[in-house]
Amino acid sequence: MMADLAPAVPVAAVVAPAIVVRDLTAAYGRVVALRRVSLTCAPGSVTAIIGPSGCGKSTLLRCMNRLHETTVGATTHGQLRIGSEDIYHDRINLIALRRRVGMLFQRPTPFPTLSIFENVAAGVRAAGRPSADVRPIVEYALQRAGLWAEVRDRLHGSALALSGGQQQRLCIARALAVDPQVLLLDEPTTSLDPVGTQRIEELLYDLRGSMTVVLVTHNMQQAARVADSTVFLLNGALVEQAPSRLLFTTPSDSRTEAYITGRFG
Ligand code: ADP
Repeated sequence: MMADLAPAVPVAAVVAPAIVVRDLTAAYGRVVALRRVSLTCAPGSVTAIIGPSGCGKSTLLRCMNRLHETTVGATTHGQLRIGSEDIYHDRINLIALRRRVGMLFQRPTPFPTLSIFENVAAGVRAAGRPSADVRPIVEYALQRAGLWAEVRDRLHGSALALSGGQQQRLCIARALAVDPQVLLLDEPTTSLDPVGTQRIEELLYDLRGSMTVVLVTHNMQQAARVADSTVFLLNGALVEQAPSRLLFTTPSDSRTEAYITGRFG
């Protein structure tokens, strides 16, 4: 069904960029949350960020679309490139950046007063797409997010009438509708039941290749299931980044081994 729709929808070709972080330090006033973190996310891959609560996972993710600096007193040093672009360059257009780099949070955040259709359409219109394109783009985004079959007969109903898992997939559709190159997800399944969680994991698996995905999760099994590469953070420092199958079987650092075997956390 998606294949039928895809050629008719005039969305721009999405090129999944690499993400390169070099010596990134981030703080909230005097609280240093990240210390000289360096990592690379391969184009079109899924990278998981794991580590104990407070180790800096969300801060790292929020640096990737420059949301961190919206907290009063927050500072950032170092380099963060998405594709060929230095996103901490002075002249970067933050609205365009956040369109390219979509983000999802722990709890689904649909626009509460808008219908299912309008939740997805709003960003498409704001991006200046011709009105004739809006409907096919919304439909395609809902297809890609695996939600179309469940909502096709109630597109103009309230988004808040959906289950938590459906609302999270609606938020994914909203992000996909503006053709992001990168998708950031901050513990996106924490509030969901096992079925809702599985749907999101399958979706992330399917999105690999067409965009670069970074996933913060406290669930190591989830990281092992969906991520090509996993980053382990501890006290704001990167301990290890490795292909997930290696990090979870033969970690190279004893602190990673202690964490994944449940000796602290
Ligand atoms: P994680 O996502 O791994 O739980 P965070 O990135 O949320 O960790 O937090 C990293 C560190 O930054 C913690 O010490 C936390 O207390 C601190 N921190 C997070 N948000 C703020 C904030 N708004 N103001 C001050 N300190 C904060």
